[in-house]
Amino acid sequence: MPVVPTRSFQDGISEFRNALRFVEKEGGLGTADNEEKFPSVSLQKLAEIGALSATLPVENGGLGLADSPAGMVALSELLRRAGRLSLALGRCLEGHINVVRLVSLYGSAHQRQLLAEYLRQDTLAGIWVTDGAPAVTLVQNGSEIRLAGQKGFASAVQAVGLALITARTEQGDTVMVLVPVGETARMGPGPGHLTGMSGSGTGSYDFTGVVVPADNIIGKPGDYLRQPEFSAGAWRGSAVALGGMDHLVGLLLEELRARDRASNPHQQVRIGEALILRETASMWVRRAAMAACNPHAETGETVALVNLARIAVEQAALALIPLVQRGLGVMAFVKGRPVEQVMRDLATYLRQPAPDETLTEAAGWFTEHPFPEDRT
Ligand SMILES: Cc1cc2nc3c(=O)[nH]c(=O)nc-3n(C[C@H](O)[C@H](O)[C@H](O)COP(=O)(O)OP(=O)(O)OC[C@H]3O[C@@H](n4cnc5c(N)ncnc54)[C@H](O)[C@@H]3O)c2cc1C
Repeated sequence: MPVVPTRSFQDGISEFRNALRFVEKEGGLGTADNEEKFPSVSLQKLAEIGALSATLPVENGGLGLADSPAGMVALSELLRRAGRLSLALGRCLEGHINVVRLVSLYGSAHQRQLLAEYLRQDTLAGIWVTDGAPAVTLVQNGSEIRLAGQKGFASAVQAVGLALITARTEQGDTVMVLVPVGETARMGPGPGHLTGMSGSGTGSYDFTGVVVPADNIIGKPGDYLRQPEFSAGAWRGSAVALGGMDHLVGLLLEELRARDRASNPHQQVRIGEALILRETASMWVRRAAMAACNPHAETGETVALVNLARIAVEQAALALIPLVQRGLGVMAFVKGRPVEQVMRDLATYLRQPAPDETLTEAAGWFTEHPFPEDRT
């Protein structure tokens, strides 16, 4: 059940939003780091204003941002601002928040407390589920579990201190396990050199031989895939992508103004279209965030709405990129210029799992059920 916001709860959220705006305005979040460099300075600044632990539930000392519409608006703002600054930063923060959410939903009171202790020490958490070769398995021996195998896409592999991973048991079930990480010898290059998002520090991590207490298993087998969270959590990634769109729209306007081309009628059409695309994405992100925290909706409806939002944001962002290229011409292709990097980062960031299924499953739901506004 969502927490009913109390006065002090709302004050906490307002203070947090003010702090976020303040550090951003003062340049305190830094500028986007060098493309290849992990955005550790910006992450540190976010940690200093309590952003890493603000996402915890109220009972664990956080602001419970995921527990009320007001909190979701603040969370959306945090993710959007992070994505605008750097999609790599947004990716790391989004993964961190995903871990908080899954442990809050499925973890025991002790596990939630343990996570809170890590976060209070400014530990960055990571959700590493995409397997490498071989995939991660676990064998339980009394009160311990022994892991084997690799995760192939591990964002912020060098910065994450605590990973929530999925592993396959001997019985063939998939379980979530919290694992302290950070051993350099276990880190590898991962998928190879991505054309975008290289600042996200995405590598691989070899869990072979790692032993953790069996208490570190979070929830029951199958909880990771449990709906609506499995799909609805995607709204947070869309909020980060929206931040990338903000950055791109800002750069388009800035460069057109600097070259005294912004008031040309053809460029005005492009500017108008870019603003429409950005606002379309923004409205979908808001809708998805509200759907994700609506306790009254059917699970299938929540999932379908967030899935539509994910694809709508993807389509809007993908339509924005050629508009910017057409508007700025070859200057949008000069390697290392911010606009060129943001386009590559955004195009890469948008590669989220199973987009075809995401759209068609949502369509399938609303073929059988009325859209919320169509209910009489
Ligand atoms: C920068 C970056 C950081 C990442 N960080 C992490 C991380 O920290 N942790 C983590 O776990 N993962 C991470 N990932 C991996 C990410 O979560 C996704 O797994 C990955 O991006 C999937 O993208 P894809 O386009 O290959 O998806 P796919 O699902 O492979 O989709 C590719 C295409 O194939 C289609 N398709 C999908 N399934 C089928 C099928 N069965 N049959 C036919 N067609 C199909 C899709 O619709 C789509 O058209 C990261 C990825 C990136 C790019």
